[in-house]
Amino acid sequence: MKKHNFSAGPCILPKEVLEQASKAVINFNNIDLSLIEISHRSADFVAVMEKAQNLVLELMDLKDKGYSALFLQGGASLEFLMVPYNLMKENGKTAYLDTGAWSSKAIKEAKLFGETEVIASSKDKNYNYIPKNYTIPNDIDYLHITSNNTIYGTQIKDFPKTDALLVCDMSSDIFSRKLDFTQFDLIYAGAQKNMGPAGTTLVVIKNDILGKTGRKIPSMLDYQIHISKESMFNTPPVFPVYVSMLTLQWLKDLGGIDAIEKINNDKAALLYDEIDRNPLFAGAATKEDRSNMNVTFLLTDESKKEKFDQMCKDAGINGVKGHRSVGGYRASIYNAMPKESIQVLVDLMRNL
Ligand SMILES: *Cc1c(COP(=O)(O)O)cnc(C)c1O
Repeated sequence: MKKHNFSAGPCILPKEVLEQASKAVINFNNIDLSLIEISHRSADFVAVMEKAQNLVLELMDLKDKGYSALFLQGGASLEFLMVPYNLMKENGKTAYLDTGAWSSKAIKEAKLFGETEVIASSKDKNYNYIPKNYTIPNDIDYLHITSNNTIYGTQIKDFPKTDALLVCDMSSDIFSRKLDFTQFDLIYAGAQKNMGPAGTTLVVIKNDILGKTGRKIPSMLDYQIHISKESMFNTPPVFPVYVSMLTLQWLKDLGGIDAIEKINNDKAALLYDEIDRNPLFAGAATKEDRSNMNVTFLLTDESKKEKFDQMCKDAGINGVKGHRSVGGYRASIYNAMPKESIQVLVDLMRNL
């Protein structure tokens, strides 16, 4: 029996995708070669890359709206510095919303490039809420936000409005809910949370925001070069791109973001309802800011910990241990997580 995989990342992928991907590793497209041993310039792989990029723009409803989709390497962590490199003017200024460890890491990199103002932070309460009612300066090159805070289980519901460029790290909730994606000028996400295996990073950029900083940018870090080379400036991570493409196709076949959002809301409600109903558990994040992807919760009676952990183990539940900075439990319930697995967890919580 396959385990119930609540891992925060790398995370669960649809079973069909794993099956198709494993076949392609042996014999891709019936060409009697493996996907991972053919040229990335071959027609078979170029078609994969094009399809992946098209699916991204189609699912986000960004087709023919002046955006490009890139599959890069270096993880979301490299975007922490590529963003200021490409968007912060020489002697420019940026603003960041600090909603957790990942935002803090992004802020640290931006500071290497110039004046970086943290306009609000929820660090005072170990990031268990999303700051609101902050003022966005009007002399900034961009505002950077993190839509979903993987470690703490918080998620931005109302996105800030600004005349400056809006940059969003969507690593852990990309393609999970319907949004007007045109409100963002740059979106990035490491694939391994909600889209594919580790090894590629999706970047979606509004083309006309680039080339305006006056900075000289090394080629590998220059979004304009990657756009002009269609993510093939150097050898792309062929396997992660292929599996991401399969997952995006799976999502499209399911009915796209509209359909998955309903499923995700339903799945999250099942778990949050139990957390709120059961006196043995308490949610870790402020209710109004709760994430539909990473559900964080604590035991109210620590003496039950050993028993609950054993029950989880016996039921084949994997990856529910909370991040060390929050403690307790974290159930990551990304797009590919079946409701049945959440029901298994909820039943254990009821029987504790
Ligand atoms: C996991 C994560 C990252 C880091 O991603 P890497 O691909 O490992 O660099 C950044 N931001 C968020 C929100 C994450 O969840």
